[in-house]
Amino acid sequence: MSDRDADYPEGPLAPKEITAESPFTLPGFFDALSEGRLLAAVCRDCDTVLVPPRPACHDCGSRRVGIAEQPKTGEVYSYTEISRPPTAFEHLAPLTVAIVELDSGVRLTGRVDADYDDLAIGTPVELTVRDPDVDAEAHLSYEGDWPFHVFALREAV
Ligand SMILES: [Zn+2]
Repeated sequence: MSDRDADYPEGPLAPKEITAESPFTLPGFFDALSEGRLLAAVCRDCDTVLVPPRPACHDCGSRRVGIAEQPKTGEVYSYTEISRPPTAFEHLAPLTVAIVELDSGVRLTGRVDADYDDLAIGTPVELTVRDPDVDAEAHLSYEGDWPFHVFALREAV
């Protein structure tokens, strides 16, 4: 647990504690993401990591969950190339998309800023956060106010 974790509330939460600023809501989650922090809820009873955070564990049903910042580094678990993506991404085709297992064990799906041929299972990647105002052409319309993530290749350590 990092020092940072002390800033976040511990579950179980009363409904009035779950405000738009709370990391247990999507606005709170995206606020942190826009600052480069990837937050998860971690179940105190079974250690399940929930990204984005939820006020209850989907594995065991416990409401004893706390917020913990997650590593943004991980490895490609599986990947593919999308030749005919949705309209919003057409100009980026072909798209490389991967399921990435973060160092915490959480798996996230996302675009990879690399060619398909540059990836392999186990390729080290890092989650980067893009500003919707800067990369306005590269997300779905309903995501317009939210930062979004793209995985970038990183050097193996
Ligand atoms: Zn649990």
